[in-house]
Amino acid sequence: MRYDSELSSLPGLSSRPSQSRPAHVVSLEDFEDLGQVLVYGCRCGEHYAINEADMDNDVHLVACSGCSEVIWIGYKAQSPDYEDEATPGEA
Ligand SMILES: [Zn+2]
Repeated sequence: MRYDSELSSLPGLSSRPSQSRPAHVVSLEDFEDLGQVLVYGCRCGEHYAINEADMDNDVHLVACSGCSEVIWIGYKAQSPDYEDEATPGEA
């Protein structure tokens, strides 16, 4: 049984096989929040944009509006019910 070493080699979210990594990874924290949309400047001068609907749909890959670059946006999945824990009594 040598599964231990295999398990310990899974560092989690940051683990992406380099061969299949299509995009530069950008944290959502690096985006500029414009209210309806969050944008991140591309080196080409245009920008990447993501909105709440995209995040609800778990969209992570976003293409630049000005070139063919694609980035993978890192953020946690939206959990609408998460903060409802403290409001019991509706059941
Ligand atoms: Zn671009």
